[in-house]
Amino acid sequence: MQRAAKIHLFQRAMITYWQQNGRHELPWRKTTSAWNILLAEVLLRKTTSAQAAAVYESLAPYSPAEIVGMDQAALAGLLQPLGIHQVRAKQLQQIAQAVIDSGGTVLESDAALRALPGVGRYISNSVRCCAFGVPAPAMDTNLIRVMNRVFGWTSHRKRPREDRKLWQCAEALVPDDMPREFNWGMLDFAAAICTQRKPKCEQCPINEICTYYAANRQVQALEMAE
Ligand code: SF4
Repeated sequence: MQRAAKIHLFQRAMITYWQQNGRHELPWRKTTSAWNILLAEVLLRKTTSAQAAAVYESLAPYSPAEIVGMDQAALAGLLQPLGIHQVRAKQLQQIAQAVIDSGGTVLESDAALRALPGVGRYISNSVRCCAFGVPAPAMDTNLIRVMNRVFGWTSHRKRPREDRKLWQCAEALVPDDMPREFNWGMLDFAAAICTQRKPKCEQCPINEICTYYAANRQVQALEMAE
């Protein structure tokens, strides 16, 4: 199958996965506020979405000015269930201050977002995609795994998340229409179906186009023939 056709099928499958099975209940998926999405991403680092959701609900009503005005120890107390709470509290206040100082424009620029403490390409892309519909990939370890299995794309870098070429591959996957739904579908699909251990290949909607699945089927066929 041609690469473009395979990418198209993959895009549609991820969007359909979102529509039919996506975690629509996650609170940061119900907003297009760039500040709230950035807040969620800061909370989601090194923790689960279930843990982050409760803390998000308690902090989402606060504006950046109100976050800056909070006593840092009290803010760290609210963040405690997520771990690294003192670092998180300090960074969150620094980020909120930068949002205020820029009049909010920092939230629209990739370079400005990535200059914020603790914010890398993944968070910048996630904010710009979910808030403004920019077709930017949410390339984390999950997407890296799925890209490797479906397309055979891989990185020889020690830290694949910093591989410029892999980011270019990921960029080629995000459709111009419905990029949010694509990214959300991808994340949920990777978490529930194309899991790191024991992927659910038999019930996978894209097994017909998956390189990993085809290779496994070939091995099984050879084993049966022996
Ligand atoms: Fe992942 Fe298996 Fe689906 Fe391939 S067929 S994408 S390995 S779950």
